[in-house]
Amino acid sequence: MLIVPLIERKRDGGALTPEEWSALVAEYTAGRVPDYQMSALLMAVLLRGLERQELAALTDAMLASGQRLSFDSWSTPRVDKHSTGGVGDKVSLVLAPLVAACGVAVPMMSGRGLGHTGGTLDKLEAIPGFRTNLSLAETRAQVMKAGCAMIGQTPEIAPADGRIYALRDVTGTVEAIPLIAASIMSKKLAEGLNALVLDVKRGSGAFLPRLEQSLELAQTMIALGEDRGCPTVALLTAMDRPLGRACGNALETEEAILALRGEGPEDLMEVTYALGVEMLLAAGVEKTSKKARQRLENAIGSGVAAEKFEQVIEAQGGNAHVVEDPSVLPQAKAVEVYNVPRTGVVHRVEPKTIGRAIVAMGGGRLTVEDAVDPTVGFVITVKPGDKVLAGEPIASVFAKDPDGITLGFEALSQAIVIGDRLREQPLPLISHRVSKGGIEELVRQTGRGKREK
Ligand code: URA
Repeated sequence: MLIVPLIERKRDGGALTPEEWSALVAEYTAGRVPDYQMSALLMAVLLRGLERQELAALTDAMLASGQRLSFDSWSTPRVDKHSTGGVGDKVSLVLAPLVAACGVAVPMMSGRGLGHTGGTLDKLEAIPGFRTNLSLAETRAQVMKAGCAMIGQTPEIAPADGRIYALRDVTGTVEAIPLIAASIMSKKLAEGLNALVLDVKRGSGAFLPRLEQSLELAQTMIALGEDRGCPTVALLTAMDRPLGRACGNALETEEAILALRGEGPEDLMEVTYALGVEMLLAAGVEKTSKKARQRLENAIGSGVAAEKFEQVIEAQGGNAHVVEDPSVLPQAKAVEVYNVPRTGVVHRVEPKTIGRAIVAMGGGRLTVEDAVDPTVGFVITVKPGDKVLAGEPIASVFAKDPDGITLGFEALSQAIVIGDRLREQPLPLISHRVSKGGIEELVRQTGRGKREK
């Protein structure tokens, strides 16, 4: 297959035919197109965009690169959620076992860290022994037995996304609506779902920071899902500050475990519950938001959600004792507390600066081959609007050596901006609900929205 004319056509603003997209993705997945040509094409897509039929063809080709999970006549409803990526976003680790504990099956296929954002697979793999590369047959059997499996791409499932995702991560080609939409929807449509809930991030730490971009991304993915028979809804959530307190793989896994045990930070719980409500409603196991929320809260309060996570970890070869004792997670060699340099009000906690620092400290990838250090990261205990006194401890840096601590301190001093007063309001935690019916603006800052059915 001749790739250069395709790259040139896209570069010059033209379109590829559905047949060309299909052949290109198949050839690339088979290893017959080199990474450098695929990178050039991805960059052309980032700069020129894709026409509607091209996006549909790319998504279908990526979906067809592997097999699809099939549950035949199994009657348990299956729903998943996917986030467009953020810093401190450990929602999936809490939500998948939580929703499974409420009687909805969750066959969750996630990604690794991408750009400055963390990835669910890297967080799960911080748990000693945890395997994310289950085969199709293992995934199916586990979902039918435990109600939940948490996996990544394999040669069997969405392999094209596995390769293209890793390439985008190291070639500056992440921030494109069609590439994000095709990546997410090709994975999710392979899962044999009855419905899908999307968490579309907005704000400076999102891949696409502007509200209009987040809404367009949400609507693009919803159209891809609905056109392929998968009812899809999206919530827009804030990523102008990290979610929760912990940022970094093992630290986030620990925070997710605490959340499952009922000790999670408020913002993390609000986003988790809001997405969980959508999942229970979409599955049809509850009829009202109020009842769905109650069911989720009960699953946390009774310990059933934490037990479900133990069951999933054990089934995937991990040390399930981590749920009782998170200190079995790998621990950073160097830890230091960061004290705020001046008195004032926290004006910003910039997620991108934090996410990039984690990558630089070894917690993310600079090249496709890089291994990640699960131990590095930050715990940041302040949010925009908090008042602080000079010398007060507001964060901790977790690193592999003293150089990492220096890097972490520099990042914190840039990311956490202190002023005399709050100059601009942080984004509402959950601001919009998007469905095939349109866009609904939600009102309450805490994010449960005005919809009470
Ligand atoms: N999540 C994905 O799976 N893919 C993207 O491109 C971005 C976030």
